[in-house]
Amino acid sequence: MAQIIDGKALSAQVLQQVASDVALLKDEHGIVPTLAVVLVGEDPASQVYVRNKIKRAREVGIGSKEYLLDANTTQNELAQLIDALNDDAQVHGILVQLPLPDQLDEDAVIASIHPDKDVDGFHPLNVGALAAGRDTLVPCTPQGCMIMLHQAHPDLSGKHAVVVGRSNIVGKPMAMLLLQANCTVTIVHSRTRDIESLCRHADIVIAAAGRRELIDADWIKPGATVIDVGINAIEIEGKRKLVGDVAFEAVSQVAGAISPVPGGVGPMTIACLLLNTTRAVTRQLSVEHGAMAANG
Ligand code: NAD
Repeated sequence: MAQIIDGKALSAQVLQQVASDVALLKDEHGIVPTLAVVLVGEDPASQVYVRNKIKRAREVGIGSKEYLLDANTTQNELAQLIDALNDDAQVHGILVQLPLPDQLDEDAVIASIHPDKDVDGFHPLNVGALAAGRDTLVPCTPQGCMIMLHQAHPDLSGKHAVVVGRSNIVGKPMAMLLLQANCTVTIVHSRTRDIESLCRHADIVIAAAGRRELIDADWIKPGATVIDVGINAIEIEGKRKLVGDVAFEAVSQVAGAISPVPGGVGPMTIACLLLNTTRAVTRQLSVEHGAMAANG
């Protein structure tokens, strides 16, 4: 039976670290790290995500500002809000909840956020910095997966990792982080042939396809580590339930370690968002100090 990688317990440790960083920033710099969350429209799943993020932020002493915009908001109106948040020295992190309604250009919105306030790590400058192996704000979900992986494997060097999915928010940054940790990385996706046999050779499988229980026990090498990013809502006997991209019961008979859904990657993602918020403050402080030094 596989070891369960408990995202709830691990995220509590990360949040404790964040809370002590927040306390230090308050004591030493008089700063209350503050996250601005922008939600456009009334997508119910997005509303739940935003509520959870704000609740957790408050619990660790991070300030939050919530902007709930009408579904018909124009590109220009959203751009004005982001400009104002970029200029507001009391706001350290800006999160625009995705997806946005169709009339809005998501890429343009992401690119308009100041890179040092980009707590999602989606700005092209931060994406490039990650690809180049530089210290930067890294997307929260893959960051959380790395913390989980390190628990199962203190040294990831030389391990073969297969990432299932190639999205900009999960699959691609995940592959970059694994590469930085000296893994050998294979990315598979909806057009890959014979995914099963590629997965069967992996020491680590990261499942981020958004396909309910896609990955079964015969895809997994005995003893491998499996991280399940997928969140798929299903209904059983009229009750809503969340399942991952991995057939948990079957795969946990074969794998060496596995993360559950729920209680796995989800809580880690929020914890890493708050970690990124304190990191954003530190980045902004060091820019300020750099500017002061440059001005003599
Ligand atoms: P996406 O739809 O943007 O990307 C899915 C990727 O999976 C694509 O690259 C696609 O090529 C690949 N794919 C689809 N079907 C496949 C198949 N049958 N075989 C192999 N590859 C296939 O999704 P995303 O935003 O990357 O999210 C992936 C999943 O992770 C979703 O279920 C999402 O809800 C979940 N998610 C969870 C968290 C969290 O905090 N736990 C965060 C982000 C996303």
